[in-house]
Amino acid sequence: MNILPKPFRIELGEGAFAYSADMKVAAELPVILSLFGGGDPSSPIRFVKGDTEWDHVLKVSPEGVLALSSTDEGLFHAAVTLKQLTGGKSTAIPACTIWDKPRYTYRAGMIDVCRHFFGVETIKKLIDTMAMFKFSHLHFHLSDDQGFRLCIDSMPKLHQIGSERKGTCGDGRPTGGYYTKAQIAEIVSYAAERYIEIVPEIDMPGHTRAIVAAYPELSCSGKPTEVASWFGIHSKILCVGKERVYEAVDRIFSEVAEMFPSELFHLGGDEVAKLEWAKCPDCAALYRKEGMKNLEELQAYFTNRVIKLLEKYGKTPILWNEALNSEMLDKRAAVQYWTTDKKSAERVARAISEEGRKVIMSRCAPYYLDYPCGTHSLKAMYELEPDEELGASAEKGIMGVECPLWTEQISEEEELFRHFYPRALAVAETGWSAPGKDYEDFKKRLQGVLFLLEERGVPYIPVKECDPARFAAWRQKVSFALRMQRVSDPMSARNWQSMRLKEPKV
Ligand SMILES: [Zn+2]
Repeated sequence: MNILPKPFRIELGEGAFAYSADMKVAAELPVILSLFGGGDPSSPIRFVKGDTEWDHVLKVSPEGVLALSSTDEGLFHAAVTLKQLTGGKSTAIPACTIWDKPRYTYRAGMIDVCRHFFGVETIKKLIDTMAMFKFSHLHFHLSDDQGFRLCIDSMPKLHQIGSERKGTCGDGRPTGGYYTKAQIAEIVSYAAERYIEIVPEIDMPGHTRAIVAAYPELSCSGKPTEVASWFGIHSKILCVGKERVYEAVDRIFSEVAEMFPSELFHLGGDEVAKLEWAKCPDCAALYRKEGMKNLEELQAYFTNRVIKLLEKYGKTPILWNEALNSEMLDKRAAVQYWTTDKKSAERVARAISEEGRKVIMSRCAPYYLDYPCGTHSLKAMYELEPDEELGASAEKGIMGVECPLWTEQISEEEELFRHFYPRALAVAETGWSAPGKDYEDFKKRLQGVLFLLEERGVPYIPVKECDPARFAAWRQKVSFALRMQRVSDPMSARNWQSMRLKEPKV
């Protein structure tokens, strides 16, 4: 049966239910009615609230279909399963009972709207399609060197200046964009109707050049700078030694927290170039006052202090796994594991076993969707088991999975979706289904549910192109790497090196 993600348990019955495409359903939730073209209380397809320990139970018999769940979310999931079983047309659905529940509570995709901006309609399309595969969260990367995408009333220059850049990698074409508060409210409620929670990310203290372009006094030197128009690592970032930085961060938090009801709040914390910190008298003064032993501790100080600020708003912080490097990260923070080196894996595994920390599996290879199929194939994405390199005991610490889509090389909606689909669906399955993989079976089911993307006008890479043979894969890999080099700031390599700086130079 073409259901993706694969349900927990299916039992086949006798006969089939004759589904016709004009059949309405007996349900209350508007989102379910919209999936089936409207409501009819006398329909043989019924969605009913009732006691069950499962997320939902779906019973198909020749007489009709009964979906049961104790929650609205469960009923929606049952509707998605039923929609998949129809194949989008009149058909005979084999009699069966499906008992289903997710493996993880966090099943996410991420979209970077900073490197290239995408408007409300694109985001809604993404949410609408993700919901059809039982994703639970969309991680929204809203602030980076190349753009700040929200309106913060108390800091209006963030969108007035921070959302615009003079060009992209030398093309000389000004570009930008931001979401108004009303647009964010629209996105958040559209997602909530589909049981997807939006997790905002304000990346800090690195990747903040757009913020310091708007408010230079928040950087170490205080000198004016521009929103970055090249990619890679930038060293013009938030100063950690100036009190006004924490006041500004708090103002941002208070408004972002209000815009996004999710309890989760991503603080970034990745790829912090420490060049400016090493030369900054304020950073150096803080370093000495606190008796720090390396610049990593300066980052830990910043992160732990802003986590405290975030606590006021009742949020749980998530950070990229570099935040563990200092070994001092606040215990409340969850970690998103993305780097692929052995040392980080050991650190993340220890964070789970010794600190009881929650971890999101997001390993760059193979989960990053901006890479081509030639390096991150559908098969590789499908086959990754979240606890595979973290050790068997890690399962209890894994809160879920996430496939991020960075957009340095993606500026058009079509490309965006073709990078997301169908590979993200491998991650949707890992996040929902019980362990145990069968790639051929997955691909068969995948073919059967792609109509849900087609119906919504969402393009995807044909499944047969998702696992390129060796030579084609090699070509894709080389061309991706060359392009990445071409779009990176010439200073990026130096800034990258500066992440390893040990102590202040003043
Ligand atoms: Zn500083």
